Amino acid sequence: MMGTLVEVVLYADKETAPEASKQAFERMLVVEREAHASEESSPLYRLRKGEGVVIEGDLALILEVAMKVSRASAGAFDPTLGQVVYLWGFGREDPRIPGPEEIQTAMKNAGYLGVPEEQCCPEGLGIWFELGGVAKGYAVDEAVRTLQEAGVRAGIMNAGGDLRTFGVRPGREYWNIGVQDPENPQELAGVLKVREAAVATSGDYQRFLEKDGIRYHHILDPATGYPARSGLRGTTVIAPDCATADALATATFVLGPERGLALLEGWDDAEGVLITNDGKILTTSGIGEGGIKFEKR
Ligand code: AMP
Ligand code: MG
Repeated sequence: MMGTLVEVVLYADKETAPEASKQAFERMLVVEREAHASEESSPLYRLRKGEGVVIEGDLALILEVAMKVSRASAGAFDPTLGQVVYLWGFGREDPRIPGPEEIQTAMKNAGYLGVPEEQCCPEGLGIWFELGGVAKGYAVDEAVRTLQEAGVRAGIMNAGGDLRTFGVRPGREYWNIGVQDPENPQELAGVLKVREAAVATSGDYQRFLEKDGIRYHHILDPATGYPARSGLRGTTVIAPDCATADALATATFVLGPERGLALLEGWDDAEGVLITNDGKILTTSGIGEGGIKFEKR
């Protein structure tokens, strides 16, 4: 689902577990369909075509988080990059490196400052939203809510590394979350220990294509339309909800080590582990306090 493997581990009664996980996956499918605008009748699709659209429900909530992180990151996170993301084609069978003119043209229609404050987009606006940097996190949040409402006591919902833990794991104080080493993604750079939390990771090793020894990955710099080269290879953000963690991880990746750390330090309840191009690991000041630990490998 959502271009990745989604796994759930849950602690519940035998009778509760199968039905609860079924409902959680169904909920995620609904979110995926809404956020990816694959159907011509969907609001995001109609909005892209310049029809006037009122945004409500899940989409409104996803966009609220997206715009909050856009503003706080001065547009490093930009959910209006749809046309540029489409050009590159990451996540499709045939990603490719677009030419500079193509990118320039696609960039003309992007820009988070063009998104109206109210969630009602007038006719002719033609914004192409791309919510891949935040919707997975939102889907995880909704799945967790569904599990809890169905009577699950504790668990972990993991959408390809964007995940959320809830409840207390029987007999354990912490949940252990591996942080991949971007240089060697089968190995761990370290292990996070969290209580109830969301953890989301953005990295240049998740989706990319290589040409002439250069790696082109899927996290774009909204200033250029090309993959962000900010000095970071991986960012992991810990926050109370996964939609926020997801968007903040993408934003931090684009901002780079200094500005990325500053964004997280200035955000209530967010912490992060940043891995630089030369393999240094930077952590925010709240790690090691308040129930979040990080152990380097
Ligand atoms: P993530 O894996 O959460 O870091 O999100 C990356 C995905 O978000 C990409 O596959 C694109 O669909 C989209 N995206 C790429 N660059 C940006 C950006 N600067 N701001 C917001 N979304 C982006
Ligand atoms: Mg993200």
